[in-house]
Amino acid sequence: MRAVTNCPLCLNSETLPYSADKARVYVLCSSCQLVFVPRENLISFEAEKARYEAHENNEADPGYVHYLQTISLAIQLHLNPLSSGLDFGCGRTTILADHLKESQFQMDSYDAYFFKDELIWDKKYDFIILSEVIEHLRGPRQEMRLLARLLNPDGKLFIKTKFRPETKEQFDHWFYKRDSTHVQFFNTESMNYLKNFLGMNEMKVIGSDLYFID
Ligand SMILES: [Zn+2]
Repeated sequence: MRAVTNCPLCLNSETLPYSADKARVYVLCSSCQLVFVPRENLISFEAEKARYEAHENNEADPGYVHYLQTISLAIQLHLNPLSSGLDFGCGRTTILADHLKESQFQMDSYDAYFFKDELIWDKKYDFIILSEVIEHLRGPRQEMRLLARLLNPDGKLFIKTKFRPETKEQFDHWFYKRDSTHVQFFNTESMNYLKNFLGMNEMKVIGSDLYFID
């Protein structure tokens, strides 16, 4: 079949229609195995921001706070004491960074819509967290490369995202793809591609939908 659009992660042009629903089409990269929404089909920045503002995720929601604490504790098992980190794409709150600060980590938070602290681009970090962020990135290849440049030598990435189901039938009915701000879906192969592209050594699962690259 002819190529429909280039892969936004590995740039390969050998891509195939994979799935479709009322809202969008989904394309499979035959090389890195990323499933993605063609970039010309993404929603506007305004519509994206409105969706994030509608999320109920904040300090007043004990379930959300507990969810972030669980991520923080899982990450801490892989950190050196006093190391410095960035919570990239933190959303409307700094809850995750605040929890890590309580354990003496030096933390910054950044969000393109809610905490646009451009000073981060001139800093270096021992680790960067992307919690439910990578599936949203419009330019995953460029954005992940920029972030990796902020890492100190031996820096670590913590990526929370749901891997796509193994079969197309499962994907067709998967709740996670219905979020209009989710524009790519990884699996082990595409996450390993990202690890290699960033020149890092190892990718492993360290928690529920939580991936560690160092
Ligand atoms: Zn690809």
